[in-house]
Amino acid sequence: MSKTILLIEDDNAIIRLMRVSLQTNEYEVICAKTGIEGISMFLSTHPDLVLLDMGLPDIDGEEVLLQIRQISNVPIIIVSAREQEREKVYALDNGANDYVTKPFSIKELLARIRVAFRSTTMADKPNKTFLLDNLFVDFNKHQILIDDKEIHLTPIEFKLLQLLIENKGKVLTHSFIQKSIWGYDSDDDYQSLRTFMATLRRKIEYDTNQPRFIITEIGIGYRFVDE
Ligand code: CA
Repeated sequence: MSKTILLIEDDNAIIRLMRVSLQTNEYEVICAKTGIEGISMFLSTHPDLVLLDMGLPDIDGEEVLLQIRQISNVPIIIVSAREQEREKVYALDNGANDYVTKPFSIKELLARIRVAFRSTTMADKPNKTFLLDNLFVDFNKHQILIDDKEIHLTPIEFKLLQLLIENKGKVLTHSFIQKSIWGYDSDDDYQSLRTFMATLRRKIEYDTNQPRFIITEIGIGYRFVDE
């Protein structure tokens, strides 16, 4: 059965472009041009994913995000011309799965949609082991192999790696990571997170300047590569 995507967007040119591309990829598309209409369509149609514009003519996209999140865990991808860090961080902290900045490539958007669907289906059955290129992790045994050689991670580094892998393909904000690892978010001071991330990278990456596994999203956080 094909998946239904609710597009909340007021720009007709973008609606046309997205509708055609999504339908070509066998998604069903329904469309709302205002925030209020978007929320009511969400309630009546139960879509499998939401693409949400931030700048809407009535209520703000941030408000739509909050309202949908109160009632549903549906994947929500923000597609917005606003590229300020503050807005990205806000959206990701408030439950958006991903954030795509306009102008965007359709290929990239489709890839992000696939990732969002994959991470929601994986959420209920966590993998006990993980393998990508030369990195192997056994979560039960707390064992990490790089090129078949065991490496030692501190408990915090291990938790960091596990959190990133469990959310691979998704951008995790500094604040989200801090809350997940340390249980609190220490006022925009991400220095200790940066330090742990640097030592983790030195242990698992060949070249820390061009990381293969953990990508820095400047000003926002980190993302473990999806493949
Ligand atoms: Ca708009």
